[in-house]
Amino acid sequence: MNERVAIIGAGTMGRGIAQVAAQAGHPVLLYDPYPQALDKALAAVGADLQKAAEKGRLAGTVEEVLGRLQTTGELERCAEAEWVIEAVPEQLELKQQLLGKLGELNPRAVLATNTSTLSVSAIAAKVPRPQRVVGLHFFNPAQRMKLVEVIPAVQTDEKVVERALELARRWGKEPVRVGDFPGFLVNRVARPFYGEALRLHGEGVPKEHIDQVLRGLGFPMGPFELMDLIGLDVNYAASQSVFKGMYAEPRYRPHALQYQRVAAGMLGRKTGEGWYKYPPGPPAPPAPPKADPASAPLAFIVGPNPLAEELRRRFRHTEEVREADFVLDCRVLLERKADFLEDLPVVTLAWGHSASAARPNYGARPVAGFSLVPPLGEHSVAEVMAPLSGPNAASEIARRYFEAHGHPTLLLPDQPGGVGFRVLALLINEAVSALAEGVATAADLDKAMRLGTGYPRGPLEWAELVWLKPVLRALEGLHAELGEDRYRPHPLLRRVVAAGLESFGSIAGLTATANPVEEQSA
Ligand code: NAD
Repeated sequence: MNERVAIIGAGTMGRGIAQVAAQAGHPVLLYDPYPQALDKALAAVGADLQKAAEKGRLAGTVEEVLGRLQTTGELERCAEAEWVIEAVPEQLELKQQLLGKLGELNPRAVLATNTSTLSVSAIAAKVPRPQRVVGLHFFNPAQRMKLVEVIPAVQTDEKVVERALELARRWGKEPVRVGDFPGFLVNRVARPFYGEALRLHGEGVPKEHIDQVLRGLGFPMGPFELMDLIGLDVNYAASQSVFKGMYAEPRYRPHALQYQRVAAGMLGRKTGEGWYKYPPGPPAPPAPPKADPASAPLAFIVGPNPLAEELRRRFRHTEEVREADFVLDCRVLLERKADFLEDLPVVTLAWGHSASAARPNYGARPVAGFSLVPPLGEHSVAEVMAPLSGPNAASEIARRYFEAHGHPTLLLPDQPGGVGFRVLALLINEAVSALAEGVATAADLDKAMRLGTGYPRGPLEWAELVWLKPVLRALEGLHAELGEDRYRPHPLLRRVVAAGLESFGSIAGLTATANPVEEQSA
């Protein structure tokens, strides 16, 4: 017989998880102390199943699935279940107290928590036989999102973790095993997507441009439109919780701009206004310029990295510097930038420095910064940064060049790293720190970010694609110019580059706290 599943809390997450379990064939008991919450949940599950049936995506009939789903207002009825999954409001004491009581009522069940920010170990601490407590972190909407973070507490028995992973697989999910640290995996690694966007906006980059650049990189939404969807209050609470949980580590510091909007009640779509007003919502990005590469100025491209190679493959250029109209310097290291024979305008890659910082290296030539992030797609936005002295011949050539190749081109304030690369570099650095701390394996980390957030590729695979060395050099440059700890490259990234490795999957001997290796006898 299929194991019985009890779900505690019939809100957004509880009812989604209940639906998943019922669709997978389990008898499900959904508990909530509020009868209206149960009525609402049943109606929502029924409507969702009906839609799935109409699209031919339901195994069996709506009635069969609903027939497996019972509701109750009596906690005692959960005593017989093999699995208990709680999805009650995010309060530590409430979860401890409920799971503690359930642990007494039901001595055998695995007790799972769907907490998104609380410590699973702290919840387990109040449960009789805490070795059967595990985190099962579903994503919203639970019935559709494939990712489940399976989070062992320090007390959890290995067999319970394996059963939880296996259960999630049977439910058609893609579980990843994740360490019990603040934000777990996805909510932690994703912090810079919001945090760095807020920094850039706070320093004068328009939010519409930040959203456009990041969408251009393949993210399903820009950070500001995404915060509006999630709710600024929910996003701010997640930022605060990770910051607090990490003992005020500066790179997780929330931004005053978040507090300002939350305090003003501008919470996003749900209140009609957040970063944007609804309706109409964020402005549609302007149509990309018509490509006419033949009309582009002729570039002499310098640099050995994947971006330079991609530009040489696809963009108008010459191998002979004397024929060129300008130099497109794709080297990352500021110290290397200088040595040109010809007196041409220079458009220089700004991943590790601002245009203003690069300017003195090129003598009297006009200099502009640029950023484009590989792999280049149709919507990749070219960012052009003029030095603080103002637009010049180089920034004008850069604009004409990228537009002639069909790329939307934005003239942005002179920020080291630009927008797209700076956000990506910090996502990569955060992913490396999570890897180093054993939060997950490299493969699980990339998979989780793709499935949990819709990122076009995982941050580690993206780093490998751009090459690890340019990412490291760019972070060193950002750290030097911006002078803050949040840009400091993680020591593991330094070691991987020093060891000459090109991928994170090839690191030997990395101990993952969340992935204990078999104990070895001496
Ligand atoms: P929700 O407010 O939609 O639902 C909570 C439910 O718990 C409500 O139906 C409420 O009546 C019920 N409840 C309140 N007190 C209770 C009690 N004493 N006993 C049993 N039930 C009680 O919340 P949600 O969004 O479903 O979140 C639930 C949990 O899932 C939280 O821990 C949250 O952090 C986590 N989570 C939420 C999301 C999300 O996107 N909403 C995603 C992942 C995880």
